[in-house]
Amino acid sequence: MKLRIFILLFVFGLMVSYGQEAPELNTTYRSENEKINNLVHTKLDVKFDFENRYLLGEAWITLEPHFYNVQDLTLDAKAMLIHKVSRDGKDLKYEYDGNKLTIDLANIYAKGDKYTIYIKYTARPEEVEQEGSVAISDAKGLYFIDHDGSDPDKPTQIWTQGETESSSCWFPTIDSPNQKSTQEISITVPDKYVTLSNGLLETQTENEDGTRTDYWKMDQKHAPYLFFMGVGEFSIVKDKWKDIEVDYYVEEEYEPYAMDIFGLTPEMIQFFSDYTGVEYVWQKYAQMVGRDYISGAMENTTAVLHGEMAYQLPGDLIDENTWESVIAHELFHHWFGDLVTTESWSNITVNESFANYSEYLWFEYKYGKDFADDHWYDQVQGYFNSGSETKDLVRFYYETREDMFDQVSYNKGGAVLHMLRNFVGDEAFKAGLELYLKDNMYGTGEAHELRIALEEVSGKDLNWFFNQWYFGSGHPKLDLSYIYSEEANMVTVKVKQSQENVFEFPLEIEVYEGESPKTYNVWVSKKEEAFSFKYTKKPKWVNVGASKTLLAEITDHKSTENYVYQYTHGKKYLDRREAIEGLAAGDQGNEIAFETLTAALSDPFYGLRILAIDKIDISMANAKNAIKIIEKIAENDEKTLVQAAAISKLAILQNTKYVYVFKQALQSKSNSVKGNALSALYEIDKEAAMSYVNSITNEEEIEGMKSALIPIYIKDKTEAQMPFVADNLIMGMFFTEDKETQNIYKEGFQWVAPSDNEEATQNLVDSFVQVGKQYKQFGADKMARQVLQQILTLKEESSYANKDVLIKIVQGGLQKMN
Ligand SMILES: [Zn+2]
Repeated sequence: MKLRIFILLFVFGLMVSYGQEAPELNTTYRSENEKINNLVHTKLDVKFDFENRYLLGEAWITLEPHFYNVQDLTLDAKAMLIHKVSRDGKDLKYEYDGNKLTIDLANIYAKGDKYTIYIKYTARPEEVEQEGSVAISDAKGLYFIDHDGSDPDKPTQIWTQGETESSSCWFPTIDSPNQKSTQEISITVPDKYVTLSNGLLETQTENEDGTRTDYWKMDQKHAPYLFFMGVGEFSIVKDKWKDIEVDYYVEEEYEPYAMDIFGLTPEMIQFFSDYTGVEYVWQKYAQMVGRDYISGAMENTTAVLHGEMAYQLPGDLIDENTWESVIAHELFHHWFGDLVTTESWSNITVNESFANYSEYLWFEYKYGKDFADDHWYDQVQGYFNSGSETKDLVRFYYETREDMFDQVSYNKGGAVLHMLRNFVGDEAFKAGLELYLKDNMYGTGEAHELRIALEEVSGKDLNWFFNQWYFGSGHPKLDLSYIYSEEANMVTVKVKQSQENVFEFPLEIEVYEGESPKTYNVWVSKKEEAFSFKYTKKPKWVNVGASKTLLAEITDHKSTENYVYQYTHGKKYLDRREAIEGLAAGDQGNEIAFETLTAALSDPFYGLRILAIDKIDISMANAKNAIKIIEKIAENDEKTLVQAAAISKLAILQNTKYVYVFKQALQSKSNSVKGNALSALYEIDKEAAMSYVNSITNEEEIEGMKSALIPIYIKDKTEAQMPFVADNLIMGMFFTEDKETQNIYKEGFQWVAPSDNEEATQNLVDSFVQVGKQYKQFGADKMARQVLQQILTLKEESSYANKDVLIKIVQGGLQKMN
């Protein structure tokens, strides 16, 4: 699973934290579930009652005892109506409490005996009450989108979400990740819909009542949480890897762009097959984009579901495909997660940390090390900012299993794998993964099995590493300082750890006396340590942690000269990044520092060009040359994102000589270039900006430039666009970390909320109702109710002619919140 809501929830959490009680520390040991009966095969026959949002199902579940004899069977079946339970045509006695179905088998089965239970049932996803699967919604397992076709803006769709334990909302099963089953599903739908499930579509049968039955078959066993069904009107864009079908299920309007969004998938399958030494084992690979999906994406075996954020138009794709990492992530789960599955949620690292790290591996292969390291940097910052230093990566005490899907299991776990790879070396790392996969394929894994595989391959003991990084928490917080002794010709590097638990780790130290360094490998294991190195000429730079793989927060004490040397001689992304940040934070009036920052504007890696543009102070007296370079970049950097950053930088100068540049930029194909140019133009030539704004009528263009247009509509108080603004306010108010954006959107709220615009009021109310409901468990419902009440008061106190209509709209929203 890929959660795309970390930031959102972080910001949102701040907004609504008053509604939250601190969770009590859980003291229940979360073990692997005991295996008594094992799933063998699951055969389902399902159709849908759209009106009631029911699934009418028949299930044939084949099982066998794990080891000991069994006389009864307990299945998970949430909020169902059970109509019949039988075996070989004979009814069986059962008890059902709305959650567990306990069946008296009327027989004793021994290990090796297989038996099949038939169950006729109705699944009622709307009745399910359980711990949320994806943290932002009640976990219903089966979701009907616009089930009655009443929403003109939404197509009718059905999709499922099994992880963590929600497949048992739509079929009876043993809903545990340490179970595996082959499957057959017959799905009956109105003929206009296509279906997607795991495995291969074997047959399609037209029925007399205008429905069609699609029969999907999956011969390779996988865990119940990976079972999937998707139904709706989709275009299927066909791709291929070797002789394996690779399909993209998108809504018709995105059909022309499906290849631009997903088209690298076959190359990814090849790359991950090569990297792991295990060729993609499954029979097909399909990806579907679903409406109102509750997470980022989900690795349902051979049938991945993506959220709408996957949809991008050419104007966005030219900047970057922001979904590429997710596409890689879900695909890599087909090795780590689907083929070898975590035995319990406590060990989810063996799924999610690998999927997270696959994003790095793909980027490194496809776009080079700088690009991958840039991604690593963001991931690590995400973990640092998450405040999760007390959480072990493998965690046996958690509050809810959903808590495991956090920045520790994902971001930190990915960074831990990166360190592990650096420690054992590339070849041993790959061989270790291959061994782990081959030893456990179609089965389960836990962190110890990964350790054992890597130990076997490398010959190294890795307990110290795993105890510290997998079964422990936190990370080193280092303070680095340097003492140069001119008499002794010696530099001493002091390494101080300020966090509570002392970490041990290898550290590469490069001492640059001339152009090439001398490298020393030391082992850090104490709270305070010093390492001394002789030199003949005083070093210009001592590069501590030269591999740049250590997961640590580092406070460094370097001089401007050190940073200048580091920027020009550092080979790695992080060397250059640190230098740019160090120089920018220091005295930019220093000539050599500023020259180096100016040079960084032309860094070979575009991400660092953007960083340099952001950081350099162009109000400095000596900035002429830098400004010239930024002007050039604004017009023709090969990366549109860099161009866009340069345009925003020039905007700071408020110089009318750039009107031409910004107007030119409005002709760009890139939404980021156009958007930033429009914002910049608005600051120096409102009339020109507004005439451009008013010329846009193309909906696609408005959507693409939304983030530039809305602040302008708000500042300009463009009445005609008030409904559009109202529709988007909540995003800018709560779902961004940028204070300036928040303020503009809040200003927008102050404009819309007291207005007499009915459509805008409706949109505003609707958006708060939706978010309030969707993020209920974070207290958003309370917040939404408060805001709606506030809007109501404003309308009540007004003297508008349509006051009554406005009041009704808000009251309608408040009612929906109850
Ligand atoms: Zn994932």
